[in-house]
Parts: sequence; C-alpha cells; structure tokens
Amino acid sequence: MALVVMKFGGSSVADSDKMKLVASRVIDKKKKGNKVVVVVSAPGDTTDDLITMSEKITSNPNPREMDMLLATGEQVSISLLAMTIQSQGENAIALTGPQAGIYADLDHSKARVTKIVPKRIFSFLDKGNIVIVAGFQGINPKGDIATLGRGGSDLTAVALAAAMKAEVCEIYTDVDGVYTTDPRVEKEARKIDLISYEEMLEMAGSGAQVMQARSIEVAMKYGIEIHVRSTFSGKDGTYIVSEEKIGRKKMEALMVSAVTFDKNQVKFSLIDVPDVPGIAAKVFGSLAKLGINVDMIIQSAALDKKNDISFTVSKADLKRTQSKIEELAKELKASSLSCDEHVAKVSVVGVGMKSHAGVASKMFEILAKNKINIEMISTSEIKVSCVVDEADLAKAVNELHKGFKLNKK
Ligand code: ADP
Ligand code: ASP
Ligand code: MG
Repeated sequence: MALVVMKFGGSSVADSDKMKLVASRVIDKKKKGNKVVVVVSAPGDTTDDLITMSEKITSNPNPREMDMLLATGEQVSISLLAMTIQSQGENAIALTGPQAGIYADLDHSKARVTKIVPKRIFSFLDKGNIVIVAGFQGINPKGDIATLGRGGSDLTAVALAAAMKAEVCEIYTDVDGVYTTDPRVEKEARKIDLISYEEMLEMAGSGAQVMQARSIEVAMKYGIEIHVRSTFSGKDGTYIVSEEKIGRKKMEALMVSAVTFDKNQVKFSLIDVPDVPGIAAKVFGSLAKLGINVDMIIQSAALDKKNDISFTVSKADLKRTQSKIEELAKELKASSLSCDEHVAKVSVVGVGMKSHAGVASKMFEILAKNKINIEMISTSEIKVSCVVDEADLAKAVNELHKGFKLNKK
C-alpha cells in the first residue's frame, strides 16, 4: 500500500462545489489502494482577508496573535473537507498542525519546521481514515501556534512526505503545472514537464508563486519528488526532480528555462553617505537585526568621498525599513533618502546558463531594444535579475519570454 500526500491550495477549496471535487479525488486515490494524507490551505482569499481584518485594528499586530489569527483559515478547510469526505461515505479526520505533530521554531509568521512526529497520523491511517492536515502551521517550543510563511502549505506537504517517507507528493493547484512564466500573465507560456529543484528554487525565490521556496529546499534536501498538477483536470503536470534524473544534456539544451517576476519590491536609496569602511555594514546590519531581508543592493562609485546606496526589500517590510532608514540617513548625514514603491523585478532562470555564455547581455539587449531602463542588476549561477519600473514589467516579461524562445511553438 503506497502512502500518498496530496496538497490542495486555497483556490481548490474556495467553495463547496470545489470542496466536493477535492473530496472525490481524494476518495478515488484511497480506493486505488493508497493510504492518503491530505494537506489543505485556507479557502480562497481567506488569509488575505484575515490580514485586512487585523490591519483595520492595528498596523503593528503582536506576532503571536497574528499567527493565532492566520492559522484559523486552514482550520476552516480541514473541518469542511473532512465533513465533505464523510458525507461521501469515507472515513476522514481533520488535524491541525499541532495535532498532526508538526513542530516549528519561534520565528512567528515565517517559522521553520523543526520536527515532525507523525504518530497520530499513522494511527488514524491504520484505522482506515483519510487524514486531513492543516497546512501552514505548527506548534513552537512555547506551545504556541506558528505559521510557516505565505504559501507555507506547500512546506507542510513536502515536510510530511519526507517525514512519513511517502511514495508521492502531489501539489494540486489552479494551473496545470509549472509554466515557463505565469500563464495568467503570458498567454504564450508553456507547461514544463520536468524541472530541477535548483531551477524551481530560483523561480520560487524570484516570484513564481506556484511553489513556496522553502518547500523546494526541503524537497531537495530529502530527495522528495513533487508532482505539481491541476485540481480540475486529470492531466499530468510538472515533476520537480533532481538534475541527475533529468540528465545534464537535456537541461543544458535550453539557455533559459523560465521568466519570473516579483511586484512585491520596494527600492530605497540613501544619497551621499560617507565613503568610509563600515557604512554598508552599519546599514545592512541594522536591517538584519530587525529580521528584514534585503534582496538587491547597488552602491555607486564614490565621488567626493560620498556614495549612494540603493537596495530593495519586500513591500511587507516597507514601514519598518522606512523608519530605520530615516534614522540612519540622519546619523550618516545623507543628503537625501528616497523610497520607490513602483518598481518590479524581472528574472530569467535556467541551468543552461552554466554552459551558455551571454545570457545576461542578451537580457540587457532585449530590455534596451524595448526602451526599458534597468535600475538594478543581480546574478546567481543560474539566474539574472533586473529591477525595472513597474509600468514596464508586462512588456519586459513578454519580450524576454519571446526573446529566449520560450513562446509556444
Ligand atoms: P494555491 O492556492 O494552489 O497554492 P497559488 O496561487 O499559490 O496556488 O499558486 C498558483 C498560481 O501561481 C497560479 O494561479 C499562477 O498564476 C501563479 N504562477 C506564477 N508563476 C507561475 C509559473 N511559472 N507557473 C505556474 N503558475 C505560476
Ligand atoms: N493560506 C496560506 C497563504 O495564503 C498558506 C498557503 O496558502 O499555502 O499564504
Ligand atoms: Mg500556494
């Protein structure tokens, strides 16, 4: 009897009809002779709605209470799905993250899974139940509920698959798999049949919402193969596997495998700060102390012993970054400080970059030809990212997708 983990995202459990469809897919899987663990996200936009509710009360919520609030969304889905399955004649039981034995660290809102003790899950499976586990949550060392970062139900599913040695980890969502870019933005996007962990990790980290980045780190560490597929069609989706499994030759055939984008960026610039050792350490050290992740950084060449430092953070960290940077600007006697919310990051990702020279220059050329100004650049072994004006983003994605020959044939 194989053990299967099936994860359904928020849009797959957004209403009772969708819930019924999910229930029948899950029951089908069990009837085929599998033991089935189901992970679900909060219905539809519930998590966003809960955040909006908290914002009406305070701009600075207590992190413990915020996690207490956000974790309720998944509890709605698990109980309703258990009832739906039961009403279709199968045994099912709903468990919260803590009840399922999912342990997390103390970092509220972006906690890591530290340990999984799936004793209760195994015992309910052995009694013939479909076990439904709330995604995105665990219990921390203080005994409090902690959430695992946005998109964290993916992490719950992969971590459970690893801890329980599941045969298959299936991520069911509202698209047919992982595409060469977001299929909602680019109609020419193509579904990818096989993708490596490394590429998926870079895609997730640079804005492809379809999988949470941390879940891919865990999958890579434990060698868990993931099948991303649609809840609404029976089609095969995308398999996320190791590079070895795909084969080097096949991977290197393409210069670029995907184009990603992230509208969730804000750019800060500190103008005319002293060009002496220790300034960058002070600025970025202060932000790190606050737990703020800085993404891109650029420092201009020094003129008259003064430098300009620009960097990006995610929009969620805007307010906290702003107050810290205002303080630092005064202390460092910067001549000015700016904050630009209308920027976006566009990236090209592909293992093929390791063997094809000139990917970055081709990207710059495509953007230049389309009169798109590049504000910042960063590169990794298999990714090149540029910050551009938000107004140019759609065109940038479109032209890069075409220029790197990713459009449908
Ligand atoms: P779920 O609720 O199932 O977790 P998400 O909204 O988190 O679903 O992720 C699915 C969405 O990710 C899709 O609807 C799609 O718009 C978006 N997306 C972004 N980039 C990609 C990509 N490269 N391939 C597929 N989907 C993508
Ligand atoms: N409900 C959470 C979110 O919206 C977790 C998830 O969907 O994976 O981020
Ligand atoms: Mg998701």
